[in-house]
Amino acid sequence: MTPSVLSDAHAPHSPASTPPVPGIATIRATDPAIADLIVKEAQRQENTLELIASENHTSPAVMAAMGTCLTNKYAEGYPNARYYGGCEFHDQVETLAIERAKQMFGCKFANVQPHSGAQANAAAFMACMEPGSTFASLVLKDGGHLSHGMKINFSGRYYNPVHYPLHYDVSHKDFERIDYDAVEKVVLEHKPKMLLCGYSAYPRTIDFARFRAIADKVGALLMSDVAHIAGLIVGGAHPSPFPHSHIVTTTTHKTLRGPRGGLILTNDEELAKKIDKAVFPGMQGGPLMHVIAAKAIAFGECLRPEWKTYAAQVVRNAKALADALIKLNYRITTGGTDNHLMLVDLRKRSEALTGADASRWLERSGIISNMNGIPSDPRPPKVTSGIRLGTPAITTRGLREADMATVASFIDRALSAGLKGETEFTHASAEIRNDVRSLCQKFPLPH
Ligand SMILES: *Cc1c(COP(=O)(O)O)cnc(C)c1O
Repeated sequence: MTPSVLSDAHAPHSPASTPPVPGIATIRATDPAIADLIVKEAQRQENTLELIASENHTSPAVMAAMGTCLTNKYAEGYPNARYYGGCEFHDQVETLAIERAKQMFGCKFANVQPHSGAQANAAAFMACMEPGSTFASLVLKDGGHLSHGMKINFSGRYYNPVHYPLHYDVSHKDFERIDYDAVEKVVLEHKPKMLLCGYSAYPRTIDFARFRAIADKVGALLMSDVAHIAGLIVGGAHPSPFPHSHIVTTTTHKTLRGPRGGLILTNDEELAKKIDKAVFPGMQGGPLMHVIAAKAIAFGECLRPEWKTYAAQVVRNAKALADALIKLNYRITTGGTDNHLMLVDLRKRSEALTGADASRWLERSGIISNMNGIPSDPRPPKVTSGIRLGTPAITTRGLREADMATVASFIDRALSAGLKGETEFTHASAEIRNDVRSLCQKFPLPH
């Protein structure tokens, strides 16, 4: 059994801090069991280091908006064209969200209603392609997303995915990066309706202009799924997918630091109409208006000058963390990172080390990550040879480059102890949890 990171008899000198949870008294009065679990989760987030690349800590205002009466309303349709009465204020909320989304990306049309990134992608597919159409993408095991053509996903069941490769040759200067010449070959051979770029586990800058040039050779639409890097794009820390992309999809809860949700953007008016129809009534019923209000707030935060500082710091922290891990004898795929995430190939540190063991040992040490296959990984997806680490969440709580060596040392202590066996690990992980907690207390979450 995995001991909780909070119940810790070995290291009483740094007790877990309990953060404030707005509204908890109201919840407790109705449902104490759920209230207890929410408080425990708040403590977990406050007292551990969140290194999952797709997660972040939203602002109190974003969270508060999701707990409001906006959840009570049906608002099927779009601003000033609803199927239900009483939408006067919902129209204004959604219009603000749309205007801010357009401003963030410097584009002409936005649909803020997708419930999630996968829903946004499903709607984008529906808007751009008939069932059975061919599209080209990166496969999941190389860093793509399950909505980019995995066989059991809608994208692989109702469409025909073909995949383009990375450079798999270790001697190539672009080892483990996108092989753009091969992308072109795949596109020329299969003439897809759509070319899809943007990934879940790719640490390097995406060349949107190059992708567009390739798409144009066969008249394919370029779809850029910037779910992971949207916040960096808005902050100027990654090139924009516009004007190169026909259609852009994203989540709003990763680097963008908003509520869980999706967003679709375009500059093409005809496509915008198709997107709106695909989201509603094509894919979804009533929009989550409380979440759309939270999106509007998050977008407003992204439009402030401080956002540029945040985005730049996320990238600087990722580079510093990658460098610190390299010094500790870990291999980072592609040799480093340009964005907020890195893939750590654990085999250099020890052939015996798997992603599954590593992420488990890290969690028991108060460091949250996920196992992740590395390109050409010989191990299956439930074992893997790698972990994926990202800096969006720890940057939100204020950690800087100088702290990354400390974080890397915690990681190495946990994995080294894990390799030595359970007795050694139990002792070491209690100490690491304690050190992690002390660091977390210096950098409280936004409240
Ligand atoms: C996270 C992610 C998504 C899907 O987001 P959900 O909100 O989990 O549905 C889509 N595309 C990419 C590239 C992602 O990384």
